[in-house]
Amino acid sequence: TLQDEGFAYFEGKIVPMSEAKVSIATHALQYGTGCFEGIRGYYNEKHGRLYILLMREHYERMADSMRLLRMDIKETVDDLCRITVDLVRRHGYHQDVYIRPFAYKSECTIRVGLSGIKDGLAIYAFPMGNYVDISDGLSVCTSSWRRANSNAMPVRAKVTGVYVNSALAVSDAKEAGFDEAIMLTHDGYISEASSCNIFVLRGGKLATPAVSEDILEGITRNALIELIQNEFQIPIEQRRIDRTELYAADEIFTCGTGVQVSPVTHVDHRPIGTGRPGTFTMELQQAYLAACRGENERYIHWVTPV
Ligand code: PMP
Repeated sequence: TLQDEGFAYFEGKIVPMSEAKVSIATHALQYGTGCFEGIRGYYNEKHGRLYILLMREHYERMADSMRLLRMDIKETVDDLCRITVDLVRRHGYHQDVYIRPFAYKSECTIRVGLSGIKDGLAIYAFPMGNYVDISDGLSVCTSSWRRANSNAMPVRAKVTGVYVNSALAVSDAKEAGFDEAIMLTHDGYISEASSCNIFVLRGGKLATPAVSEDILEGITRNALIELIQNEFQIPIEQRRIDRTELYAADEIFTCGTGVQVSPVTHVDHRPIGTGRPGTFTMELQQAYLAACRGENERYIHWVTPV
């Protein structure tokens, strides 16, 4: 299980996972005052090595999240990259992995606040393949839970407590028989899904909610924008998207480190396009995964070999 296999970077050194433990009185556990990242490592059989995807980008976003939570961690982005390579190397994986860095208010105190409360940092890693089925297509719903608003919660940062919003939305969606939930902003426009961003193809043009639509600024979203601009002759608009625009789409896909590029085939029980994974979506998925696995020289800057 996750808690007793492998190693973690914890309190300044790499230790067996079973030794990376905190008290139940930990501030972050009580109040959600942590921030984290989800990073993937792709094992390339042919190259016989593992590639960590967009690692620096993830740690730069985490540095922003930490600043927002008034955290003071001694490790720099460079240190975090180096530690992560060491940690992954230590495991000697010959399979795809998921890496979870986590910075948290580590003091045992009941004082609500951010400043002057001690911080901790942990990084752990474990084997992980596809998080969702990426060939079949997802059936999603519009959630009755709105996406947390940026004036109430720091949604631009990847903050632990904000995930209650995602958990409510996806849990209700699954109980109702859907695979994922699309959340609307307070103004009623498309924001994102519980753990991924969304793209809509209609009439030969792509649209994705602008960063002002209370989205997490997805690293996969940015990488796909780069890939689409280079490899596909399809314009991308970053703008407000109406809920009904989804129903009229030719293709929809979600993207994120976990879900990678996942076709959406149904929204609120309505088939999207043919009701099967879209042609463009599947081509993009292939191009993306090849780049992730270090198979395209043009995107070799996305990956760090271990
Ligand atoms: N939105 C949310 C709420 C997420 O949890 C994630 C996953 N980190 C994403 C979007 C996609 O972000 P990324 O591409 O950086 O993984």
